Amino acid sequence: MLKSSLQRHARLGNLARRQLSTLVSQQIRSRPVVASCQRLAQRERQLVPLKQIALRLYSQGSAAAYANTQTDDSPASLYNTTRFEDLAKLGVDERIIRAITVDMKYDSMTEVQSLTINPALKGVDLVAQAKTGTGKTLGFLIPVFQRLIAADPSLASPQHRRDASSKDIRAIVLSPTRELAEQIGVEARKLARHTGLVVQTAVGGTRKREAMFKMQREGCDVLIATPGRLHDILSDPSTGVDAPKIQSFVLDEADRMLDVGFADAIRDIVDLFPPISQVDRQTLLFSATIPRDVVHLAKSMVKTDNFDFVQTINPDETPTHARIPQHLVAAKGYENWFPAVLEIADRAIKNSKNNPDALPFKAILFFSNTATVQFANRVIKNTPLGNRFNGVPIFDIHSKLTQDTRTRNAEAFRRAQTGILVSSDVTARGMDFPNVSHVIQIGLPPDRDQYIHRVGRTGRAGKAGEGWLILAEEEIKEARVRLPGLPIKPNNTIQSASHTLGQGTPSPEVAQFFEDISKAYERVPKDLFASVYNALLGQKFGRNLDVGDCVRLLNNWCKVGLGWEETPAITPTSARNRGLDRIPGIRLGFDNYERESDDRRGGGFGSYGGRGGGFNSNDRRGGGGGFSSNGGRGGGSDSGSRFNSRDRRGGGDPFARRVSSDYESRGRQPSRASF
Ligand code: ADP
Ligand code: MG
Repeated sequence: MLKSSLQRHARLGNLARRQLSTLVSQQIRSRPVVASCQRLAQRERQLVPLKQIALRLYSQGSAAAYANTQTDDSPASLYNTTRFEDLAKLGVDERIIRAITVDMKYDSMTEVQSLTINPALKGVDLVAQAKTGTGKTLGFLIPVFQRLIAADPSLASPQHRRDASSKDIRAIVLSPTRELAEQIGVEARKLARHTGLVVQTAVGGTRKREAMFKMQREGCDVLIATPGRLHDILSDPSTGVDAPKIQSFVLDEADRMLDVGFADAIRDIVDLFPPISQVDRQTLLFSATIPRDVVHLAKSMVKTDNFDFVQTINPDETPTHARIPQHLVAAKGYENWFPAVLEIADRAIKNSKNNPDALPFKAILFFSNTATVQFANRVIKNTPLGNRFNGVPIFDIHSKLTQDTRTRNAEAFRRAQTGILVSSDVTARGMDFPNVSHVIQIGLPPDRDQYIHRVGRTGRAGKAGEGWLILAEEEIKEARVRLPGLPIKPNNTIQSASHTLGQGTPSPEVAQFFEDISKAYERVPKDLFASVYNALLGQKFGRNLDVGDCVRLLNNWCKVGLGWEETPAITPTSARNRGLDRIPGIRLGFDNYERESDDRRGGGFGSYGGRGGGFNSNDRRGGGGGFSSNGGRGGGSDSGSRFNSRDRRGGGDPFARRVSSDYESRGRQPSRASF
């Protein structure tokens, strides 16, 4: 309802302008946010040397023009004047348009869609950056589908489904997480509904053979996959799955895909494709965040002489939605975390009861490591808030659950009207859970981009939402370094955060939250907290927060919050190896906590099983090493599709410099923290 009313609003507001606008293409061409290498090159190639084009294109001219464009962040402004119906004028098949306008009931494009669909339809490669929740998925799916149909019209007719072959995949979309791949698969199937295109998904953690049989039986034109599983399938000739005529290759969450954890896998996959010189292939890279070092790498994925860089984020704008209030709660210590969560939830639930316009309380609680997710899930389930009968449903998603459970929990949370998803960063990117009212981040986020992606799970497609960040007071200085240029405002209204446990008399309400949590701790196996203790000692520290500060926070939580006499022990060897043996407050020794079976915790499956490690944020971003650790591959003759070692070092390539400097001139310029 809200969505359609927003769309109506957008339509009415833009009616006058739309009547003036003629062709979609003209509209798009007039927008300065698209820096098209191809178009300018065509027009001006003979007139000026390359370097000058670069300057004109990417520096003052476009930046100034762009700065003059509106920075309105209201829901209505999300939608562009361009209507999906107009895609017919660009030759898009009526069956694709019908799926959007009739089945999905979308009328106007979002800004990023209007800026990417047209150039992508023409076949240029794209690097596109737009805020979370602005419809990037359709931004790449629509042109990919249309181009497949244009190249082979037999794919348009539903009869094609009988002839689809798993040996002839035409388009591949890669996602960093399994949940996101499944979600893109759902959207792709909706879009393909009236056509003959067969969409399949292939993700790790599921039975490979079953997926294989399904693909062999039903065929596959478009495959949505995670990198490890895709490589597995394509490199194994016995699977009967191949892509000899692959036409489109999409990296969603592209910066993550080009990050250290995945870069090797992506390069190996690209090596399995036919060279672009033999089979032309379009590459589309989409993300909400594109750090500078990745802009550089992105360049090595696209055709350098025929690509667009679309950026809908104004340099003066923050990369999160300004309409999403973002609160920083300073907690006395870690023992205040969960009481503060109960208070935020209690307030939101009461508010939604009294205010019919407010969204029902539906929150995601993000932690940076799996152990804390497991612990938090159990704690909250044992409070009145998580009570099966009169509380809200609690779900968890993290890498130690089986993929079946992860998928089931994601689906259940998607459908839930109200509830809490306790999650690690596996759901931080791309997941489109409808009507999430609160994103609550607890503890220091690993970095600014991850903070942005997590907040982006709320306020999607123009809707409302709130972001909350709960930090111990000692962590705030470090947070200022990690989270510059974001609209985060201190919020000191959460009394459970500012209460010093054991001192003074809190209000009965606050006392109750602490009491509820205290009782819940008693029902959670001790070894779960010991794992949290270990995991937090291994978190990323910084100039303003060291492991000593963390030990103090943890020990206080343990003694005052959980009421333990002794803090968990660290074995002498582990302490030595981790440099913890001389830290005051660390107890060396051995604990003998009873371990709960892994079954009760959801099974012992690892996360992404490919190379380069999973996506546990703890081991992410070891320091911005980019490709330097990848050894000396690349430099191949397959222009544009391989990573070039020279580019990787960033030396001497005017093109790479140009993209990077363009990004800097128009991209984010994080200023200071606002808190
Ligand atoms: P992003 O990838 O930019 O984070 P998604 O592609 O996941 O965003 O889309 C966010 C939500 O907006 C989804 O529920 C999607 O179906 C919806 N959506 C996409 N395009 C439109 C549109 N033009 N009008 C209304 N809703 C849209
Ligand atoms: Mg997305």
